[in-house]
Amino acid sequence: MNQIFIFAIIFFLLSFNAAGQYKYGLTPQGYNAYIENVGADPHKELIDLEQHIPDLVLDIRYATTNNFTRQRIYDLAKAYARKPVADALKKIQAELKKEGLGIKIFDAYRPYKATVKFYEVYGDTTYVASPYRGSRHNRGCALDLTLVDLKSGKELKMPTGYDSFSKQAWPSTPMADPEIRRNRQTLIRAMEKFGFKVNASEWWHFDFTGWKNFEVLDIEFQELEHP
Ligand SMILES: [Zn+2]
Repeated sequence: MNQIFIFAIIFFLLSFNAAGQYKYGLTPQGYNAYIENVGADPHKELIDLEQHIPDLVLDIRYATTNNFTRQRIYDLAKAYARKPVADALKKIQAELKKEGLGIKIFDAYRPYKATVKFYEVYGDTTYVASPYRGSRHNRGCALDLTLVDLKSGKELKMPTGYDSFSKQAWPSTPMADPEIRRNRQTLIRAMEKFGFKVNASEWWHFDFTGWKNFEVLDIEFQELEHP
């Protein structure tokens, strides 16, 4: 009798821990709820940006150890965003092409679990999103990106590298180098023309207007690739 009771307690604690992965009072949408949502509103679909946009360059840092956590966070190097975000980015890429420029994506849709991990690694919400609210990346409505020269494939000179947690990364920080100033302005102008807004502390991060209409998701790339 006692043993059964102890087993019951252990089982209860284990299942509680499993459910407790969402310990910040936010329960993101999983795959099944997402699919149901897309059925009712096709705008909610997460689009594979690499397939949707010609010549888009991907450097998904969280699928490598080359990021601030020094850990590989994603299993796959994929960039997904909701349909209106993907369509806007496609227009931006086409417009930039006229100037011989293109976009390189560092990060796009991000599963909620990764946001929790970033918060637990960094322990502050100045540069990483609060797990209590989730990130706009979790909604498939934020993009981290930079500009590349289409011919050479090289990144244009920008104020800092990706995920630099410094004041130099703020779009409002004055830049002495005219080339850097111009590049940053070209990027922000191109993005803001099509409904994005630059983040106040990260020149590379852009939120899509209307992000509030999209739920926080916790779907792995594997699930999107091989449902
Ligand atoms: Zn970002």
